[in-house]
Amino acid sequence: MPRLLNTVITGSTSGIGLGIATAFAAEGWNVMLNGFGDADEIEAIRAGLEDKYGVKVLYNGADMTKPEEIRALIAATQSAFGQVDVLVNNAGIQFVSPVEEFPEEKWDAIIAINMSSAFHTTKAAFAGMKERGFGRIINIASAHGLVASPFKSAYVTAKHGIVGLTKTIALEGAEHGVTCNAICPGYVKTPLVEKQIPDTAKARGMTEEEVVQKVILEAQPTKQFVTVEQIGAFAVFLCSANAAQITGAAHQIDGGWVAK
Ligand code: NAD
Repeated sequence: MPRLLNTVITGSTSGIGLGIATAFAAEGWNVMLNGFGDADEIEAIRAGLEDKYGVKVLYNGADMTKPEEIRALIAATQSAFGQVDVLVNNAGIQFVSPVEEFPEEKWDAIIAINMSSAFHTTKAAFAGMKERGFGRIINIASAHGLVASPFKSAYVTAKHGIVGLTKTIALEGAEHGVTCNAICPGYVKTPLVEKQIPDTAKARGMTEEEVVQKVILEAQPTKQFVTVEQIGAFAVFLCSANAAQITGAAHQIDGGWVAK
């Protein structure tokens, strides 16, 4: 296993992706950041990680709805770092609505960003990993990749889909030193969750505080949010030599949600 890993993490300007990027940089690994946001804030994140950990941190703003930009993201990472050893498919959005009112463009965007983008990144990065006999692909699915909740038809569909992709890629990489795993977090307090609280309140006829207590933390037996640091640390472990036989699995980090 190479000591210095070259990594690319989609949707890493915020939340879980940024948590994973920070954990990877702290290991001394190079990081290609991706995602949307204010240009100055992204540059501050990039330069901050580079200064703190003494690694190369670059940024590419590829839109995960656009296959040609996704291919260019992988090509840019390969040309900057020489190769992609670790690919984390993390970019994602959410939209909460009863199915009969669910906007078609939101369905298409969620399927593209939360599911299809992982196919395009994997397709572009896989051959190099296979050739070198080492690769780690980590798909950030969700507890919603294993169980459903009402009003999240597109999200639950995309997350179940990415768990299926994870298993298929694991089989294709199995004899080539390439593992593929899904991480299935429960609720993590990131902008993605904070933004859906008002919509969930509307869809369920609750106050926002009731949504936090009765929907979000109610789902998790520990009654605590998962943290981005906990997910970052697990992603680091999945990249290690000790994780070489862990592949094709959907790993819950959900405070016991899916066990219920
Ligand atoms: P977030 O909103 O904090 O971050 C999402 C990231 O994706 C941002 O960097 C954003 O810019 C990027 N992004 C969005 N659309 C994009 C596009 N078209 N192209 C490129 N980048 C794009 O959300 P988060 O909570 O950190 O979510 C990250 C992943 O974790 C998602 O796949 C989400 O479904 C999953 N997840 C989140 C939770 C949670 O509770 N927060 C739970 C389970 C799974």
